[in-house]
Amino acid sequence: MMEKKILLTFDYELFLGSKSGSVDNCLIIPTDMLLNVMERHQAEAIFFVDTTYIMRMCELEDSNINVKRDLEKIKQQLIRIVKSGHKICHHIHPHWIDAQYVEVENQWNLSNDEHYCVETLSEEQKTQIFDFSVSFLSEIMSVAGVEYDCCGYRAGGLHIEPFAAVKNDFARCGISEDFSSEALIENITESYRFEESTLSPATDGRFIEHPISRIRIYGLRKILNGVFYRLTKRSPKYQKFGEGIPSVPKKAEHQISHGKLEFSLPISIELLTPVLLPYYKKLLKRYSYIHFLSHPKLQSKATIELFDSFLKFYGRN
Ligand SMILES: [Zn+2]
Repeated sequence: MMEKKILLTFDYELFLGSKSGSVDNCLIIPTDMLLNVMERHQAEAIFFVDTTYIMRMCELEDSNINVKRDLEKIKQQLIRIVKSGHKICHHIHPHWIDAQYVEVENQWNLSNDEHYCVETLSEEQKTQIFDFSVSFLSEIMSVAGVEYDCCGYRAGGLHIEPFAAVKNDFARCGISEDFSSEALIENITESYRFEESTLSPATDGRFIEHPISRIRIYGLRKILNGVFYRLTKRSPKYQKFGEGIPSVPKKAEHQISHGKLEFSLPISIELLTPVLLPYYKKLLKRYSYIHFLSHPKLQSKATIELFDSFLKFYGRN
């Protein structure tokens, strides 16, 4: 039998629009709950840390006590993460370089999204951002006393193409595995190698792509799921922990788009509902490769409970 590969990945980040939300609600509280659930089921995950955000915090920490406190909480949580056996890897949202810190709210405004995509940066900016990411992640691991190569990367907004824009930075920083492309689960069975672009697999390529799994939702399941969302909209248990305002997504050309009749979703913990849980369980039996893409900030008490029952089921099968 083929080995099952379930990848649990999280984007460890604030909101990326006009209000970032707070560190406690977007990161610390939901991540601790997720870590507790995973500990119970001995599940391991990869956390993609938005290090350009951390870079901006480092610039302000000496002049602002709130930023310093937030940064310290993040570092402590990341240390817990790696000590518990999870991995931390690079996640780069370049438009953090233009973010404005709003002191009265202790939040950030990221309305300026001119540098949303990495290819809009100068070589110097790219070098600064990638090098910071490497040094920050290695600092966390050395404090935690854990050793492994942080060779994984997820592009902000999943904009990995054009790959040429980051290829040199990958090579310089020892990054060899990308987790940014998306594919329908029925079309992908495993990770693959590439060299010039994630869109053209190459058996002797130096890089590995781990595509994010998407599922098609249609028919009765889609209707029931919609009804479920309407019914629980005001229920406190279903309120997201994070309170920020998201960025307007910029779709890259290669990203999956769907018409009115077709509807596809990433496999994600925040999208789990009692309607979809049995479907996720069925997928687990049918496919050998499933790549979850989730965000602590988008969890609610209810989605974390559903994640708990999913892992319980996974452990039994
Ligand atoms: Zn992100």
